[in-house]
Amino acid sequence: RRSNAPDYLEGLNPEQRKAVETIEGPVLVLAGAGTGKTRVLTTRIAHILATGSAYPSQILAVTFTNKAAREMKERIAHFIGGNVEGMAWLGTFHSICVKILRRHAELVGLKSSFSIIDTDDQLRLIKQIIQAEGIDDKRWTPKAFAALLDGWKNRALTPKEISEGESRAFAGGLGRKLYEEYQDRLSILNACDFGDLLLHVITLFKTNPDVLKDYQRKFRFMLVDEYQDTNIAQYLWLRLLAQGNPNVCCVGDDDQSIYGWRGAEVDNILRFEHDFRGAVVIRLERNYRSTSHILASASHLIAHNEGRLGKTLFTDFEDPEDEKVAVASCWDSEEEARSIGDEIEALQRHGHKLNDIAILVRASFQMREFEDRFVTLGLNYRVIGGPRFYERMEIRDAMAYFRCVVQPADDLAFERIVNTPKRGLGDATLKLVHELARAERIPLIQAANQLCQTEELKPKARSALKSVLDHFERWRRDLEHTKHTEMAEIILDESGYTEMWRKDRSAEAPGRLDNLKELIRSMDQFESMAGFLEHVSLVMDRDSNDINDAVSIMTLHSAKGLEFDTVFLPGWEEGLFPHQRALDESGRAGLEEERRLAYVGVTRAKKRAKIWFASNRRIHGSWQSTIPSRFLDELPIEHVEIVEQASNYGGYGGGGYGRGGYGASRFDRSEPFQNSSYSTPGWQRAQKAKAAHEAITGRSSDFRSAGTRRQGPMTIEG
Ligand code: ATP
Ligand code: MG
Repeated sequence: RRSNAPDYLEGLNPEQRKAVETIEGPVLVLAGAGTGKTRVLTTRIAHILATGSAYPSQILAVTFTNKAAREMKERIAHFIGGNVEGMAWLGTFHSICVKILRRHAELVGLKSSFSIIDTDDQLRLIKQIIQAEGIDDKRWTPKAFAALLDGWKNRALTPKEISEGESRAFAGGLGRKLYEEYQDRLSILNACDFGDLLLHVITLFKTNPDVLKDYQRKFRFMLVDEYQDTNIAQYLWLRLLAQGNPNVCCVGDDDQSIYGWRGAEVDNILRFEHDFRGAVVIRLERNYRSTSHILASASHLIAHNEGRLGKTLFTDFEDPEDEKVAVASCWDSEEEARSIGDEIEALQRHGHKLNDIAILVRASFQMREFEDRFVTLGLNYRVIGGPRFYERMEIRDAMAYFRCVVQPADDLAFERIVNTPKRGLGDATLKLVHELARAERIPLIQAANQLCQTEELKPKARSALKSVLDHFERWRRDLEHTKHTEMAEIILDESGYTEMWRKDRSAEAPGRLDNLKELIRSMDQFESMAGFLEHVSLVMDRDSNDINDAVSIMTLHSAKGLEFDTVFLPGWEEGLFPHQRALDESGRAGLEEERRLAYVGVTRAKKRAKIWFASNRRIHGSWQSTIPSRFLDELPIEHVEIVEQASNYGGYGGGGYGRGGYGASRFDRSEPFQNSSYSTPGWQRAQKAKAAHEAITGRSSDFRSAGTRRQGPMTIEG
């Protein structure tokens, strides 16, 4: 079998084959979306095994998610028709590091039974340390310190390596000291945080050359997928392991680097060639995933970024039947969800599987509308890479408040929020409440009320508890004559819950605030708070885990590496996508990262991509007429079809489609199109847009000049 080309190599193009077969020495595969990078990695492992170059346990392979690791294992097994259970070192950076660390925990001051703390524990610990130092934790919040810590750990900096300047970023120069104390405490607790997993292993390797040597010998081959999103710590880790035995193969795409906000360094791609002398760099240029329209659209879009290494992409798939990338407008997000729901049902009627369909959103609050709509339609869906909307922490907290107001006997709800935000109600107080409730067989709220009449509680706890209970009393009364959505807002404000997230400095906090606003907005469709609560319990009732055919809903960030026949991309509006926060915080770099995210989104589609934008959306709490995303203007018009929505206001040739349209936006996005009146039918506008595009850019907007099949590659310079 070894003499003839084995099955698994069949169908690979020459560059792919080179990347698979060059197993000695460092290899960097730098290539665009859908060119087979992941496939090359998988095949390469199969090749290493099939040629007997290494045992399964001698291969280290890093994927971005655990799911990707599982899939890779399955494919390898399929290729070589054998058992791959021995592939113990195929996983994420974190999972691999945990494994190494368990074996050598003592060498970094832990016991092998160490625990990994979650964010909540981490914050509690930081808070204790800050307070013990006598620092004002209102001014210097635990969250802010956690973010700082995270940044340091992503850059593999131990406390000793924190410079004076960096140390000054917190509490007037106490940053390093607090970091030291935090690590001490963790070590006493026999625990580590997520960032430590890598950092400890790096320390382990640096301080124990013999241990490092063992691993260097052990891992005959190393492979890394999604290399563009590694951070400095991951890079250093890899470089340590590869010293002296650099059979390391990394595959990535600079255009898909979308985790800069989490410390990923696209420069690692440039460092690779420098640090791994004699690295073979292979470029894959043929895309096997998408139709030419999808590919041309994505390529044209990403060409607007300046910071690129530049690459060529072409496809051989070209079928006159291929659908152009569709762009559709709608009135608001509700209509967006309704229309997409209808289209999915239509696809289903034509025999398409739901598994082949995905909805990719920019911000997780956008999912709510789809989830609600799909439940109404009875359409199966799953949320990938995160909890479903109503399962999110902030949504559950808010719902717990509403439940306590509507159903005072709801103990679980009461327990959830009685001390969220923190009100100084400690375990001792809550224990008393519980004991009384059990003894008297009454609900917790009632027990709490009774306790407040006695002298049993300490005065401080009593007044805190009484204040919560009084609030609930009043909210319950007010709900009788105040609109429920208004009440919901009042409850979250007066309870201090909204404020809690407003003060929060973590990266997730703004998203959580958006989710809360979305929650309140969604209540509008119901008569009462009780009606809304009932709806949610019905939505939550269905278990999405064991459905075998379902639409996937996820954020663009979670969609990396995946592919679907049909991809819906809703919410392409300025402020949402590109996201305002990215623009505000990181300016041009932020915009470029957003654009890469758009590129990732479009390139997930194999056959069909449909982009949507709504004329109105509630952003930052208030209804706004929106401006279509600038990314729409950056699509090549000849590969795009502007879709007339039959259900839309006005209709084709009447008042223009929707309220104003995409074509018009290409000329003037400075003005929210709600205020303009357009009467030209969409296709005419599209023609005009094309002419304008050519006039502005001074060149034909056609990529593939004369249209024979495979007119040579579309070259996009960086
Ligand atoms: P991304 O950048 O999105 O992660 P990728 O470069 O990792 O993309 P893959 O997911 O490996 O690309 O491949 C994209 C699709 O093309 C997959 O369905 C894969 O099976 C298919 N493919 C890759 N190479 C070939 C080939 N030589 N012949 C046929 N199909 C191929
Ligand atoms: Mg991939």
